[in-house]
Amino acid sequence: MHELAITQSMLDIVLERAKESGARKVEAINLVIGELSGFVEESVRFYFDFLAKNTLAEGAALNFKLVSPRARCRSCGQPFELRELDWSCPQCGGSDIEITAGKELSIESIDIE
Ligand SMILES: [Zn+2]
Repeated sequence: MHELAITQSMLDIVLERAKESGARKVEAINLVIGELSGFVEESVRFYFDFLAKNTLAEGAALNFKLVSPRARCRSCGQPFELRELDWSCPQCGGSDIEITAGKELSIESIDIE
């Protein structure tokens, strides 16, 4: 269900941008997916094929780019990249951290015809 809703809103944005640019067809959609997002590429593709039927985006290729999660330390303000199994601040060792990136699915760009 998670992927269905996010795929629908992603498609809405793509179609809006395509329309604004006077596209006849969307060739490819380049997506950025956070490693912590929990989104499964296969599910996004599956829903996309279903939702994009009879739209400008029908048959468009989906390209995924995986990004590492990032966090910021609440104690000292240090931003850093989260590594597996080590979620403490590299500067002060604190574990009170805030995830700043890695949970998103966003559109990097779209290729249109
Ligand atoms: Zn810190």
